[in-house]
Amino acid sequence: MNLHEYQGKELLNSFGVRIQRGIVASTPEEAVAAAEKLNEETGTSWWVVKAQVHAGGRGKGGGVRLSKSLDEVRSVSDDILGMQLVTPQTSAEGKTVHQVLIAEDVYYPGESETSEFYMSVLLNRSTGRNMIMYSSEGGMDIELVAEETPHLIFTEEIDPKVGLTGFQCRKVAFNLGLTGTAFKEMTKFVYALYTAYDKTDSSLFEINPVLKTSDDKIMAVDSKVTIDDNSLFRHKDYVELRDKREEDPIEIEAGEYGLNFVKLDGNVGCLVNGAGLAMATMDIIKMAGGNPANFLDVGGTADAKRVEQAFRIILKDPEVKAILVNIFGGIVRCDRVAQGIVDAYKNIGDINVPLIVRLQGTNAEEAKRLIDESGLQVESVILLQEAADKVAEVLS
Ligand code: GDP
Ligand code: MN
Repeated sequence: MNLHEYQGKELLNSFGVRIQRGIVASTPEEAVAAAEKLNEETGTSWWVVKAQVHAGGRGKGGGVRLSKSLDEVRSVSDDILGMQLVTPQTSAEGKTVHQVLIAEDVYYPGESETSEFYMSVLLNRSTGRNMIMYSSEGGMDIELVAEETPHLIFTEEIDPKVGLTGFQCRKVAFNLGLTGTAFKEMTKFVYALYTAYDKTDSSLFEINPVLKTSDDKIMAVDSKVTIDDNSLFRHKDYVELRDKREEDPIEIEAGEYGLNFVKLDGNVGCLVNGAGLAMATMDIIKMAGGNPANFLDVGGTADAKRVEQAFRIILKDPEVKAILVNIFGGIVRCDRVAQGIVDAYKNIGDINVPLIVRLQGTNAEEAKRLIDESGLQVESVILLQEAADKVAEVLS
């Protein structure tokens, strides 16, 4: 589950991580009230208005703008709220902005320069350990830094038996070139950040930039927080942080049916049992000259009801030009699945794209006969190669 910037920051702050202070708003009036409140609390008279969508690179897309008066806060918020924000991380149509975060300006001039750092906490899957990844080159595309100046990216792995040590926190601050107050602040920041990551069962924290202010405070100016979905059962209070408006409506519906569905932008829908077979099926579609319109694993129970729900979900996509069903009947018998397909087909009534069904495994021959004799516009095959050939045929 991904959080909005403002939610992530509040969560971090509850673990003692210093953040750029802000208040979320849904209307220009709320935005002005938020700016006034921040002025009372922090004395700031400049604010940044930040679009709250689940995508990075908002600054580049015009979703982060500095405002130097309350009037400007109002007009900038009015511009950003409701806009379709396009960033390097969104699709071409962008994402609708429903909320803005009004934040204090923290790039104020002072004794020393401000500096932007990059910091993330994530699982290193090859060692099975959490690690802190950080760089002096913050505020910009970390992918670009990784490509052009990889020596400026550091990692620090955490031994699960020992936890994050004071030495490691100091090493991070040292590698970032800090001294004095900023050095001490950074060690505290790193410790609090890692504690938050650990306690919230997150799978990713990405703070870009971590800012050193001109008066040597270290704070999170941005936050990308991903909570591990598998841990949500023990964080019941996080449920309300989910913003379904940020998710694909078809994926939400599929989730409600217990279908493992990911929308893709190809033209061949696929319905498969088992994630591995679903991946292989997507490869087959590609090799046949098509592009998968989705990933869909119906799980072990490919009964008529699930098959019907799956078809309905696939058919919502107007790009779909053909559907490939690929079921391996191990525990579930192919003839039962075939009957399910025939029933689902009849129930839906208007499936007007070619349907290719490949059933292999227990009672495969019987299943093929069932489909062939149903009189429906369904091509049934047993071999995977035949399925691929059929896909190529209907696309051409
Ligand atoms: P992103 O573009 O989605 O990653 O959004 P960020 O929250 O990282 O903000 C983008 C950029 O806006 C930052 O890298 C900063 O350069 C700038 N920014 C953020 N907060 C402030 C602020 O308080 N004052 C000023 N002047 N710039 C800010
Ligand atoms: Mn950022």
